Amino acid sequence: MDTYQTMDVAVVGGGPAGLSAAVTLARSLRSVAVVDAGEPRNAPAEGAHNVLGQDGIAPRDLLAAGRREAQEYGALFHDDRAVTARRHDGGFELVLAGGTVVHARRLLLATGLVDELPDVPGVRELWGSSVLHCAYCHGWEVRGRRIGVLGTSPMSVHQAMMFRQLSEHVTLFVHTMPDPDDDAWERLAGLGVEVVDGLVRMLRTDRGVLRTVVLADGHEFPVDAVTVTPRFVARSDLFEQLGGTLTAYPMGAFVATGPMGRTDLPGVWAAGNTSDLAAMVAAAEGAGVAAATAVNADLVAEDADTAMRARAERYAVA
Ligand SMILES: Cc1cc2nc3c(=O)[nH]c(=O)nc-3n(C[C@H](O)[C@H](O)[C@H](O)COP(=O)(O)OP(=O)(O)OC[C@H]3O[C@@H](n4cnc5c(N)ncnc54)[C@H](O)[C@@H]3O)c2cc1C
Repeated sequence: MDTYQTMDVAVVGGGPAGLSAAVTLARSLRSVAVVDAGEPRNAPAEGAHNVLGQDGIAPRDLLAAGRREAQEYGALFHDDRAVTARRHDGGFELVLAGGTVVHARRLLLATGLVDELPDVPGVRELWGSSVLHCAYCHGWEVRGRRIGVLGTSPMSVHQAMMFRQLSEHVTLFVHTMPDPDDDAWERLAGLGVEVVDGLVRMLRTDRGVLRTVVLADGHEFPVDAVTVTPRFVARSDLFEQLGGTLTAYPMGAFVATGPMGRTDLPGVWAAGNTSDLAAMVAAAEGAGVAAATAVNADLVAEDADTAMRARAERYAVA
């Protein structure tokens, strides 16, 4: 079992939020350990959009560049999964799946979220390519195409309207969606969104390419892309082991924080999709930077208090 020196900060998660935090902390000469299991949420996507200056960059290339920057400033990386977290000696102890133990004074959780997808054959297989959830991430790429919206939640009407901004050919498949109010039907009708009743049985592909939405009654509707509304559930094992509880909302659950990412557990911060389920890459990066500055400020205050006490003791002895 490898145990390293106590770090100032352990960052769990090496996605956009965790890497941005690591760069900010390492540039403040904080010792930082980043633990990353290497499963960023947008891994199935070809490119990350709305990333200023790097629009369309492959998600793994963006993270590789961020990791290089963090390493150049001195951050240490563990390519592993943190499986347990507990309080230890005034700070934290993480145990990684491979047996390594990391000690740190502060903990920053940037573990992202899990997209819980509707259980319809074809959805998981095409997730991130032609099964989409975010008009800002992939909307431009499917503009003007035939877009089917798989209705599973009250948000599906909103999603249909969002994608209608990008294409005249939007069909809302009611599937398991709760009944929208009259106003919603009127709006969809006004926008020319076709509404199809009935359960969806599957998405049919041909050589890996999405072709049709197949209803339970056998009817098929040609589409080029399908949008879904996953449940977004923050990865929270470590937070819960430390005594935290997730905050639920109708579309999922997240780690609640203040504006700079401080959780209600002393010494624990969260950033990115862990605490903001809607955060895109740029917002996750910003949250990582903000949380890192707050963690650094907290350590600066603690270091000043420690130095003050040490000085007072020196004078008391003299
Ligand atoms: C298909 C798809 C396409 C998208 N496209 C775009 C886009 O074009 N533009 C855009 O701005 N946004 C896009 N997004 C959203 C984007 O993925 C998120 O904004 C971004 O990933 C959030 O970053 P994060 O750092 O919070 O989490 P993540 O990127 O998910 O990173 C979390 C990291 O933490 C690691 N981790 C989790 N638990 C542990 C643990 N216990 N121990 C160690 N490591 C752990 C994970 O393995 C992962 O590497 C897309 C999302 C999806 C699903």
